[in-house]
Amino acid sequence: MLSFTEVFYIFLFMEFYRLSLRTVQDLINKKEISQKEVLKSILGRINQVEKQLNAFITIFDYELDFNSYNTKFLPIAIKDNICIKGKRTTCGSKILENYIAPYDATVIEFLRSAGAVFIGKTNMDEFAMGSSTETSYFGITRNPYDLSRIPGGSSGGSAVAVASGEVPVALGSDTGGSIRQPAALCGVVGMKPTYGRVSRYGLVAFASSLDQIGVFARNVYDCAIVAEIICQYDDKDSTCVNLPQEKFTGELQTVDENFIKNIKIGIPKEYFIEGIQEEIRQKIFSVIEFLSRSGAKIEEVSLPHTEYAVATYYIIAPSEASSNLARYDGVKYGYKSSSKTEDDYPEVINMYRKTRQEGFGAEVKRRIMLGTYSLSSGYYDAYYLKAQKVRKLIFEDFMRVFNKVDFIIAPTTPTTAFKLGEKINDPLQMYLSDIFTIPCNLAGLPGMSIPCGYDNQGLPIGLQLIAPHFKESNLLKLAHFIELNFKFEKIKNEYVV
Ligand code: GLN
Repeated sequence: MLSFTEVFYIFLFMEFYRLSLRTVQDLINKKEISQKEVLKSILGRINQVEKQLNAFITIFDYELDFNSYNTKFLPIAIKDNICIKGKRTTCGSKILENYIAPYDATVIEFLRSAGAVFIGKTNMDEFAMGSSTETSYFGITRNPYDLSRIPGGSSGGSAVAVASGEVPVALGSDTGGSIRQPAALCGVVGMKPTYGRVSRYGLVAFASSLDQIGVFARNVYDCAIVAEIICQYDDKDSTCVNLPQEKFTGELQTVDENFIKNIKIGIPKEYFIEGIQEEIRQKIFSVIEFLSRSGAKIEEVSLPHTEYAVATYYIIAPSEASSNLARYDGVKYGYKSSSKTEDDYPEVINMYRKTRQEGFGAEVKRRIMLGTYSLSSGYYDAYYLKAQKVRKLIFEDFMRVFNKVDFIIAPTTPTTAFKLGEKINDPLQMYLSDIFTIPCNLAGLPGMSIPCGYDNQGLPIGLQLIAPHFKESNLLKLAHFIELNFKFEKIKNEYVV
């Protein structure tokens, strides 16, 4: 929350990009600032920092000629795997470098009617496969807290755009942690709703049983503003659950001492294993102690199959990906190889092979091979089927725990942001950085990461909250309570770049 003096200086220097979405919307409502002034400030900020950060793949041009005081105004950046009609949707891949989306994703339609102004499309690991935003065809994205470090991934561009003041809010997608992990590493709020809560129509498929669109914001209230717009039923996605739209922002006003006194929080012992950075453990426990002092009941719980989650995910997600990515063949979508080949294969096969060879990056090829292998007839039972069974056990672990508690609190990541290049040639180490975010996707649960301080190098630490299915509203309420009442250390400069 900005202090009165901070707001005064923001006005003095016209740095409207620093304002929260809620404040921007309030001020526009009261006709104290115009959309044009805010947009100009946002675009100015992008100009100032984008060269260093590379958070965007595409930035849209705006003729700053509208001076409307329309009360609906929502400047937002969109991960480049979500379709906006008539705009490029690259998924961070050469194969879709020039692909123009022919329709709007459902979330884009919902946002449009809420007054969205789309600022641009954000950088991401190719096809959302990665944890560091280093596999994009459009270059790496840097962490604004330390330009020699990764921002997390795969929605690194969205996390960085929000963390550095380029936009107040952004959309990302989370298949195995791609919203929560970069949110944690960039010091912002990130929320992945329940699987089935948000329509996936118009989200380019990676692993369809896990993919979910969610929100990045600089505070919980702003996250709630966007979440309540996108959490709506859509009959174009058959996995979208038909529930009434909730008023999350209204719910936040009801958070008080009684809310906290009536909740039970589980602390899973498997998430505080050896190898987790000591400062992360300490910070998470200081929040837990604070919640206990505030009246919440805290209980140690066990999720015994956690250790199998990474292996399970890295069979299921690549299997689904290998099937989903079969559509990129140089005929139906995007890039088509024009090079000649000497091979003896019939012409069209050569074209498919060349197109994929040239169009996909190394990580995507690795996933396609992993997935094709796990699904092949001789190995299906041993890998894919077995992984599905373990997924069920992981799901049941959570169900057992949620019979006793209302929330789970855990770290979002085992370490703070690592150095660029540190893990890019060691896929196993890279995959292990998803250890605390993946179980939530396998169980389809809603999860959130909120900032909870910094390590001794000044790098942000994320605290993860998980709730039972469709309890997004409780998740936001607890996050809001922590954000408002826990005494967070401040770092000197909110925007480090
Ligand atoms: N890092 C994970 C992966 O590489 C998660 C990606 C995601 O959530 N999109 O698959």
